[in-house]
Amino acid sequence: MGLDRFFSQIAGWLDQYAILPVLYHFGWMRWEELSFDWALVCVYGMFAVILTYAVCWPLEAWRPVEHWPDKKAVAVDVFYTIVSRVGVIPIVSFLLFYQVQTEFTGALVYVSFIRPTLETLIPGLFGHPFVTFWVYALILDFADYWRHRFSHIFRAWYALHALHHAQRQMSFWSDDRNHFFDDCISFLWFFVIGVAIGIPPLQFPLLILLLRFIESLSHANIRLNFGPLEWFLVSPRFHRLHHALRAAGRNSCNYAGVFSLWDVIFRTADFSPVYLPTGDARAPEALATGGYVQQQICGAKMFIKTLFGVKKKAAF
Ligand SMILES: [Zn+2]
Ligand SMILES: [Zn+2]
Repeated sequence: MGLDRFFSQIAGWLDQYAILPVLYHFGWMRWEELSFDWALVCVYGMFAVILTYAVCWPLEAWRPVEHWPDKKAVAVDVFYTIVSRVGVIPIVSFLLFYQVQTEFTGALVYVSFIRPTLETLIPGLFGHPFVTFWVYALILDFADYWRHRFSHIFRAWYALHALHHAQRQMSFWSDDRNHFFDDCISFLWFFVIGVAIGIPPLQFPLLILLLRFIESLSHANIRLNFGPLEWFLVSPRFHRLHHALRAAGRNSCNYAGVFSLWDVIFRTADFSPVYLPTGDARAPEALATGGYVQQQICGAKMFIKTLFGVKKKAAF
């Protein structure tokens, strides 16, 4: 309760001094009602980054897989994380999701259709919001498994996803290292699933943040596996195999973001007890060590070239 009040206070402050003045300035008063919730999601995002740092940094310091004399390549990943968790996630996943969800439900009411919720489909869930929350998480992660797997199958899509794989200094900051177009596809993907299964608007960004917290941990530069639990939950070692130099590209393994059971079910799991170097040998250097803008431009060029270029000339 105390923590809730603390978050609300910071959100109130952020709303009053940062968001409302902007809304008034541009005449966007119709968003006024939502601005506090938006601020709250922003605060949750900041808290998620702090929590991720507090948990993962000591772990990386304790048992690192690799030692890097120069951590310049990690700095750009920190930027990706802040933009994605504190900026883009609240704006896109809350405002837009809220709007689409409300209008979709309104349209269904208009045609006198009462949409089944997860609780009406599985009556046992009724009155158990905690369990329902985890069922939502499982469904979203299942969808994410297939999104990720497709991004390795389709050449043009992998041209975008290569940015995520190009990092040779993989750390807990690397989870959000994605091309902007790739992020747009992911959000759209989650949106459709989220609206289709009727996730309540405020739960949606929370779910995303929770899943992303586990995904951050799985990118950490740490010697850690979860033993038998690894058959269910993705560990740093499990996801590292997905990022291994030898696996980068179309025939990878371990595509799951949070629940490794999808890899077990669809026969793409690799539980080898090794910690391999990461990166994508075929990715241009700019994608691995360039700045944010350089990486985005390089990724966009590769995407366009692969989409419209002659297949055998394409880099991926
Ligand atoms: Zn991948
Ligand atoms: Zn990854």
